[in-house]
Amino acid sequence: MRTRFAPSPTGPLHLGHAYSALIAAEKAKKAGGTFLLRIEDIDQSRARPEWQAQIYDDLAWLGLGWPRPVLRQSERMPAYHAALQALWDAGLLYPCTCNRRDISEAASAPQDGAPLTGPDGVIYPGTCRNKPRPTEMPHDMALRLNMRIAAKEPVIFQETGPKHQGNVITTPERLISEIGDIVLSRRDMGTSYHLAVTVDDAAQDITDVVRGADLFEATPIHVLLQRLLGLPTPRYHHHALIRDEAGKRLAKRDDARAISKYRADGLSPTDIRRLVGL
Ligand code: GLU
Repeated sequence: MRTRFAPSPTGPLHLGHAYSALIAAEKAKKAGGTFLLRIEDIDQSRARPEWQAQIYDDLAWLGLGWPRPVLRQSERMPAYHAALQALWDAGLLYPCTCNRRDISEAASAPQDGAPLTGPDGVIYPGTCRNKPRPTEMPHDMALRLNMRIAAKEPVIFQETGPKHQGNVITTPERLISEIGDIVLSRRDMGTSYHLAVTVDDAAQDITDVVRGADLFEATPIHVLLQRLLGLPTPRYHHHALIRDEAGKRLAKRDDARAISKYRADGLSPTDIRRLVGL
């Protein structure tokens, strides 16, 4: 068994991160497997070396260890590019020049109600889908997945988390209507969370993805990409989210619950485990 914790170094780790990392590490340990760490720093406008250093420090303080060198997504652009090129060559991607405003205007044009949203926000209304495609894959435009071509069969994954245990099946119709043509390469990044996470879980031979329930709805995207790229599908374990007293889930800017703050206040790793109910 190989599990991983994949934080983005864009703020301090808080109790929710500690919970996720501890579950992933313990799951691997119990099975005699390996717990890995991955730094998800594709968003170079928000990632900071200080946060990365703090992640290593907090996780070590919690008693966790992981093999080195640590995989950092900022060093993986050639792998993401190769995956995009394969999807492009298979006719599954198209360039998109819409901005947020174009999308929300086009999406709310029909008769009734608010536009439909999916794991990536407003479902793309398809404005650029049928424009002529350049012969070469462009590097300076967003690239979207053409879901109508990509979703041919249901995607299935095995969930071991507390809420949806068993096989989770998503039909092509739902992939089209509830997820739609998501961006796989952002103009400013040359990749996207969905593409990078899929390519890297495979590169690290992850057998069990442990992460928060907030990513459950995005998982069919990752499983579909695995199929399109010929990669294996791991098992998934989406754990409950740690919430504050008001029931709101913790956010990066919620510094009050930063591990470093608890450490400075004199709490021990055992206290942290107790706080998150482990
Ligand atoms: N990097 C993501 C985050 O910090 C987690 C991605 C994942 O576990 O798949 O929220």
